[in-house]
Amino acid sequence: KAVMEKILFRRSLQLRDQLQAWQDSLEGRKMLEFRKSLPAYREKDAILTTVSQNQVVIISGETGCGKTTQIPQFILESEIESGRGAVCNIICTQPRRISAMSVSERVASERGEKLGECVGYKVRLEGIKGRDTHLLFCTTGILLRRLLCDRNLKGITHVIVDEIHERGMNEDFLLIVLKDLLPRRPELRLILMSATLDAELFSSYFDGAPILRIPGFAYPVQTHFLENILEMTGYRLTLYNQIDDYGQEKMWRTSKQAPRKRKSQIASAVEDALRAADFKEYSPQTRESLSCWNPDCIGFNLIEYLLCYICENEKPGAVLVFMTGWDDISSLKDKLSSHPILGDPSRVLLLACHGSMASSEQKLIFDDPKEGVRKIVLATNIAETSITINDVVFVLDCGKAKETSYDALNNTPCLLPSWISKVSAQQRRGRAGRVQPGQCYHLYPRCVYEAFAEYQLPEILRTPLQSLCLQIKSLKLGSISEFLSRALQSPEFLAVQNAIEYLKIIGALDEKENLTVLGRYLTVLPVEPKLGKMLILGSIFNCLDPILTIVAGLSVRDPFLTPLDKKDLAEAAKSQFSRDYSDHLALVQAYEGWKDAERDFAGYDYCWKNFISVQSMKAIDSLRKEFFSLLKDAGLVDSNTTTYNSWSYEERLIRAVICYGLYPGIASVVHNEKSFSLKTMEDGQVLLYSNSVNARESKIPYPWLVFNEKIKVNAVFLRDSTAVSDSVLLLFGGSISKGDTDGHLKMLGGYLEFFMKPDVAEIYQSLRRELDEFIQT
Ligand code: ADP
Ligand code: MG
Repeated sequence: KAVMEKILFRRSLQLRDQLQAWQDSLEGRKMLEFRKSLPAYREKDAILTTVSQNQVVIISGETGCGKTTQIPQFILESEIESGRGAVCNIICTQPRRISAMSVSERVASERGEKLGECVGYKVRLEGIKGRDTHLLFCTTGILLRRLLCDRNLKGITHVIVDEIHERGMNEDFLLIVLKDLLPRRPELRLILMSATLDAELFSSYFDGAPILRIPGFAYPVQTHFLENILEMTGYRLTLYNQIDDYGQEKMWRTSKQAPRKRKSQIASAVEDALRAADFKEYSPQTRESLSCWNPDCIGFNLIEYLLCYICENEKPGAVLVFMTGWDDISSLKDKLSSHPILGDPSRVLLLACHGSMASSEQKLIFDDPKEGVRKIVLATNIAETSITINDVVFVLDCGKAKETSYDALNNTPCLLPSWISKVSAQQRRGRAGRVQPGQCYHLYPRCVYEAFAEYQLPEILRTPLQSLCLQIKSLKLGSISEFLSRALQSPEFLAVQNAIEYLKIIGALDEKENLTVLGRYLTVLPVEPKLGKMLILGSIFNCLDPILTIVAGLSVRDPFLTPLDKKDLAEAAKSQFSRDYSDHLALVQAYEGWKDAERDFAGYDYCWKNFISVQSMKAIDSLRKEFFSLLKDAGLVDSNTTTYNSWSYEERLIRAVICYGLYPGIASVVHNEKSFSLKTMEDGQVLLYSNSVNARESKIPYPWLVFNEKIKVNAVFLRDSTAVSDSVLLLFGGSISKGDTDGHLKMLGGYLEFFMKPDVAEIYQSLRRELDEFIQT
């Protein structure tokens, strides 16, 4: 122990000398100068004193004031200066992988180091960290996973949770765990950092922890809403009249009770306005195809117009465009790069900024462009608070972000573009006033802004809780509902019960809410449980290739496009991919076809002809790789394997794996003379979405359909289904884990009785016994 202490002491002294040398060097002095110009630097002493005197501290300040890059560094430097450099261990969590990566790199360079020396990062599947790393930036998920094997965070001296205002599910979850941990680790320091002003909520959650506010400074930003923008272009906005026709006042009033309806009304009002405004640069043909291929694209012509306007008429300064998601960004980028002005690299540097970009791409965002070149960054809401682009003077805000939402009553999740909150809109606007007075163009009318919610609902209240519940179990945190009742804001009782019930049915939890073997595997695969199940069985049964495609396909936006005016053509195009009564197998066919076409450089044509989204195909391609390495990490696929299992189209087997994943989403097929109808146990009669391949059939030669999702509109509709036989449902519907057999039998027995097929129950019991014996051996 004495030797160890000596080594650490010597190392601490070394670190101190290194820091001193860097700060004395020319470059180091220049960097320090820059750092001192940040508002956070002025609060350095106050921050360090408060942190040393309190176990929990909350720090809030404007985006860009230096919270993320400076505060962890202040702590590190102060520890080094006081001779504790080698014994301190600071962890700073970020909600997104890209911010963990870019921030760690920035901090390392501010310290004149390479990544992996004092500063490192760790995100899923990637990381740079050395023996001497004392400041680690990681995603919230990584810290949660660490808690799995290290309940007390041994050796960690400071935990900094960044961006808590976003109220992501992982962050809210982590806070409950840390709150429990604090009494066990009295010397551990917890620092919470947030951009907006909701600090009191966190302070009261942590028994009145002190709040430090970093005062910020911002230049005025001139705000334009859609009506001003359209007037600027010489078109008068017809939107007002339209909204007046609805009765503007009444519409917003009633909308509070029916948010769904409100959203769609707003959406169609804005889209009508954009359709009404006829932009010169556009050939009617392109516009028509764009508007029918993707309703979100309709704002593209407006964005293009504004960007041109800024390039030709405005003072220098970067433009930041907030878009909905990666797919929109990439289609807009493709489109703009052939534009005479915006696509000309001697005038415009066009960049994308989103969660999955490469780090080389990231760097360009922070760099200054060449003289006379205007930087235009197309970004998701990641640029709202977690990434600061220095020279932004103009902001375009489409007003939407992708948000997961969940309806506990229908038990259906969705990832859809939805309107942002007022706080987000203000945050976006603020991006324009950091270096000089700026301009912000909101691409929606002021009345729409007025109807935005004040804050966004925390994720824990709007997403399904299945994965979270699994995580609670794998961290051995006791009863799920008791644990969740201690959250900052607790989810609905019904939502928690649904999640637990579902996990029992699929065999991830047993009757007493303990994790089963299957459950344990599912916790290491960071995908939805049903997708995790397919991946597991797909690897066991050696048919991973098509399963990877299906799982990836279920995680992206529907790859089969259905333009409103070419609905029949599109549906016919889709149905040619299937003779097997399965939307999932149709997807596999479509993807394989695209791969073949890509090899002949004809991928784009192929997609166009078949009404398939190129972006979705590309996204599926990269997700397949990601899932494959996840399976290797989990030990489900041999880590030396480089190719996916040979593509053997054993259709019955694939059907079985799909059934294993989607159970208990099953509907019974009832044939009558001319066609068939569908029933589920909970809803009675249900219908198929018209773009399902099964909707075009008049007969389905199978007794059951398994489906991924049902959505209640005026009736209950099933999306994406696959027909399965009795024996597949009997063997694969439910879990193969031993402990769960009884519950599973009961459930299945219920189905069989309900649909009056008692004879099958007997066959099932004997098959099941055989199978269980087989698994035992
Ligand atoms: P906050 O977390 O308070 O939003 P940050 O610590 O992320 O602020 O950023 C502080 C400042 O550091 C930013 O205003 C920006 O000027 C600068 N900065 C951050 N990251 C980089 C980077 N990768 N390259 C250059 N400058 C950066
Ligand atoms: Mg930050």
